Amino acid sequence: FAQPGSLTTVIAVASGKGGVGKSSVTVNLALALAAQGRTVGVLDADIYGHSVPAMLGVADARPTAVEDMIMPVPTHGLKVISIGMLKPRRDQVVAWRGPILDRALTQMLADVYWGDLDYLLLDLPPGTGDVAISLGQKLPNAEVLVVTTPQTAAAEVAERAGTMASMLNQRVIGVVENMSYLELTCPHCGETHREEIFGAGGGADVARTLSARLGYPVPLLAQIPLDARLRASGDSGTPLVGTDPEQPAARVLADLAGTLARRGRSLLGRQLGLSPTGR
Ligand code: ADP
Repeated sequence: FAQPGSLTTVIAVASGKGGVGKSSVTVNLALALAAQGRTVGVLDADIYGHSVPAMLGVADARPTAVEDMIMPVPTHGLKVISIGMLKPRRDQVVAWRGPILDRALTQMLADVYWGDLDYLLLDLPPGTGDVAISLGQKLPNAEVLVVTTPQTAAAEVAERAGTMASMLNQRVIGVVENMSYLELTCPHCGETHREEIFGAGGGADVARTLSARLGYPVPLLAQIPLDARLRASGDSGTPLVGTDPEQPAARVLADLAGTLARRGRSLLGRQLGLSPTGR
């Protein structure tokens, strides 16, 4: 994936802190990209949460080994591998650091038979720790999507995650604000109203700050509403984008996939313009 000629777009999904919906965005975005005809792999590198397998209905699945390669787990049309799948038991804590953690990450990138992928989505642990640094060094060409809630406290730490990605020479392609509002319908008059449970403006603030700090435009790409069905679909291992694509939260995620795919095409165009002799 790190080779200059690789046709796989690697997108690392990062956040400043946990619980902002980074994994929910990763799995639904993966499904939305697959629904648009792309081949998508998901690498769950969240050593603290590793909730991706459960959200994709493969909590107890284990990858199989074929000769010296590891086969990713197929689910919902995606290929999935999680750091949690490398543990002997599901309830075991991943207490890896330094070289062992680094080895596990290398294994998930290099020893897994991913095949030809259009996209590899990486679910990073929250914050700016070892995994983000290690993957940043291994995949300097990865693009980074920063997930935050509208809350000021979440936005401040999200900026740090974006800044660190750029220190590792990864390009921050945009910000996704999750849990932006709850749409309520008045039982009496039927009018709808948006309740901003976590405040407002965090996503735009992160986008503005990162644009100024990194010196290129970092847009706010999506604002996903709060929706109990998004939570429930994650709990049941059937992501909302697949089960209920008409729901507003699912539509925003599908639009985000469309935005990223359009970007991908324009990048691909640029690559085709290079002549081999010009290298
Ligand atoms: P993170 O990966 O940042 O720790 P998760 O994706 O695990 O966050 O989300 C934390 C919890 O919030 C999960 O139970 C998830 O289902 C729920 N959640 C995430 N986004 C939303 C949303 N927009 N509306 C309702 N619940 C959500």
